[in-house]
Amino acid sequence: LTVLGIESSCDDSAAAVVRGDRTVLASVVEGQTGLHAAFGGVVPEIAARAHAERLDHCVEAALATADTHLRDLDAIAVTAGPGLIGGVLSGVMLARGLAAATGLPLIGINHLAGHALTPRLTDGVPFPYLMLLVSGGHCQFLAVEGPDGFRRLGGTIDDAPGEAFDKVAKLLGLAQPGGPTVEAEALRGDPRRFALPRPLLDRPGCEMSFSGLKTAVLRLRDDLVGAKGGLTPQDRADICAGFQAAVVEVLAAKTARALALSPAPTFAVAGGVAANGAIRAALQQVAQAAGATFVAPPLQLCTDNAAMIAWAGIEQLSAGMPPEPIIARPRWPLDSNAAPMLGSGK
Ligand code: ATP
Ligand code: FE
Repeated sequence: LTVLGIESSCDDSAAAVVRGDRTVLASVVEGQTGLHAAFGGVVPEIAARAHAERLDHCVEAALATADTHLRDLDAIAVTAGPGLIGGVLSGVMLARGLAAATGLPLIGINHLAGHALTPRLTDGVPFPYLMLLVSGGHCQFLAVEGPDGFRRLGGTIDDAPGEAFDKVAKLLGLAQPGGPTVEAEALRGDPRRFALPRPLLDRPGCEMSFSGLKTAVLRLRDDLVGAKGGLTPQDRADICAGFQAAVVEVLAAKTARALALSPAPTFAVAGGVAANGAIRAALQQVAQAAGATFVAPPLQLCTDNAAMIAWAGIEQLSAGMPPEPIIARPRWPLDSNAAPMLGSGK
């Protein structure tokens, strides 16, 4: 099986060609950070236009790198949601056009399923496994039981950690995306200088909260600026270190709880925040203490990409799952128990 994947649900235009034996023949990602930099966040309309302009180049580049032609493919898989609807529609329309022109089967993929199945692409992890999906828009523990079997154990009740990293960077005048810049600052900082909250740490269950942490950083910044007229580079580094340490502690404690509630032979992370070295190290320790093998995909497959979408398509084809009509949807919960609208077309 060889499948073309197309991804455009947020601010990365991506296309990839992946083979059923888990070989990524090509994975092209064109980011848009420069386009949105002046606005302090992704502007949906700008993102949609950029996807419409770039996606066909991404597909051409992926096919060229893979040394493949459309006629050699077995299917086209495209992100059908959840995400910014203008971007999702750009990808779905392109995929529809390619499918109509070639007669290839078209598979609509849930972006979160793409992230959640990535450990199988990168490490061949067998079902079932437990994972933490942690990104700019999501944070949830999932028991993954099959290509379409996702059980949500708990997650954030407000912001996702990536969003918190991005907001903290913005508060401190650091570059976007905030994850990598805050992580770099934290390396030079003292995590003990400022005491920041660990929301919901002592509550039972796997629910998490990160918006209070972000507000605490805002207050801390304002207090320091009020007292001294500004922040020194060391203040910034110490705030970043304190913030990151709080995120690490919450994620590690809740991972331990998730593994206790739903033991699994493998614990995997995915999503952009899984690129964070301190978070990876802490989660690895927790997983090993619980007797689970720890899997963290390479960084370029942790953040948004189309290889995971192509792979999710391969999983669906291999499992003989009936193709559903493709509907672009801004919201699309993974856990079918929590998703009465799934597949109903509404
Ligand atoms: P979603 O996939 O949930 O719709 P998204 O598109 O924002 O959201 P990703 O591309 O998976 O998700 O991840 C991007 C997020 O990951 C950003 O918020 C970014 O700040 C964060 N991130 C990237 N690298 C790091 C890092 N080293 N440490 C912490 N966070 C990081
Ligand atoms: Fe994503």
